[in-house]
Amino acid sequence: PERGGHKSLTDVMEKALSIYRDCLEGASGEIARRYLIKRDLPKEWWSHFEIGWAPPAWDYLWRALSKAGIPAKAVIECGLVVEGSRGLYDRFRGRVIFPVRDVTGRLVGFGGRSLSGEGAKYINTPEGPLFHKGSCLYLLNLAKDAIRERGRAILVEGYMDAIRLHMAGFREAVASLGTALTEEQGKLLKRFTNSCYVCYDADSAGREASIRGMYILQALGLQVNIVSLPPDRDPDEFLQEKGSKAFEDLLKKSLPLPLYHIKIREDLLNDLNLRKKVVEELIEGLSRIDLPDLAPFIPQIAAKLGMPRHALEDELL
Ligand code: ATP
Ligand code: MN
Ligand code: MN
Ligand code: MN
Repeated sequence: PERGGHKSLTDVMEKALSIYRDCLEGASGEIARRYLIKRDLPKEWWSHFEIGWAPPAWDYLWRALSKAGIPAKAVIECGLVVEGSRGLYDRFRGRVIFPVRDVTGRLVGFGGRSLSGEGAKYINTPEGPLFHKGSCLYLLNLAKDAIRERGRAILVEGYMDAIRLHMAGFREAVASLGTALTEEQGKLLKRFTNSCYVCYDADSAGREASIRGMYILQALGLQVNIVSLPPDRDPDEFLQEKGSKAFEDLLKKSLPLPLYHIKIREDLLNDLNLRKKVVEELIEGLSRIDLPDLAPFIPQIAAKLGMPRHALEDELL
């Protein structure tokens, strides 16, 4: 039966997590412990975030799980091992492990960060019966009460960004795991708050992802503010350099979606060859926002676009 089957996959995931966590404490974990401490993620926090270590061996986890009597089929379904031509091998090798729990706390996947610089910096559990990346928000299970109490969520891109925010006291932070935000993730947030501060990396990938994600959130009826970090910084780096007070100031200086969208297109607006296209893009985005939500910004937007107020309002209807 489906339910029983899923429960046992979750048990396999929990067993794997406990092995990874033991490895972080063990001899093979030395390199990971040094890495975490150097990154200012000290021991006291490892159990709070349930951080683990997947040793670099080809089949450390698979051997340990099979010794525990867990069948290959279940381990493959969990995405923990991969079938190669010469047998089964571990998906996560030589990586720091971040467990991903769903909103109810059920363990559904892992993220793994490479320390060697070889291969992708991060890999995740593949899509499968347990894990659907687009319907998870990292740390939501730890963040949901704070999100309700504080009346806001802070949305970031990366594992380390969410962790650093929690460590700095911003327990309302969640991460979208590097994907462009999905509607499902937006709906999850909407269960706990009407207000979301988006704080993606200040690189062009982060900037474009945040615009798309913001319109998704806005369409779900959330109030969306975008936080602008200094160039090429992410929230983790910013907090380490500048501290929580400075981050709180950034939140205060954040811009509502319409004004943010215009601000990042300002240079293009001043380019006569691009202007028409950019105005169209902006109007297209703005017209997806309910007029009452947009009303306070209309005069400012009209001025930026060089349009009379009523002409803008006509366009947006
Ligand atoms: P770190 O601080 O550990 O160097 P980061 O979190 O700043 O990493 P980014 O490159 O900014 O890493 O990516 C942000 C997030 O996007 C990551 O935390 C991860 O969730 C996701 N991500 C990045 N690279 C990949 C990848 N190759 N495959 C899957 N997800 C990725
Ligand atoms: Mn980035
Ligand atoms: Mn980072
Ligand atoms: Mn980053």
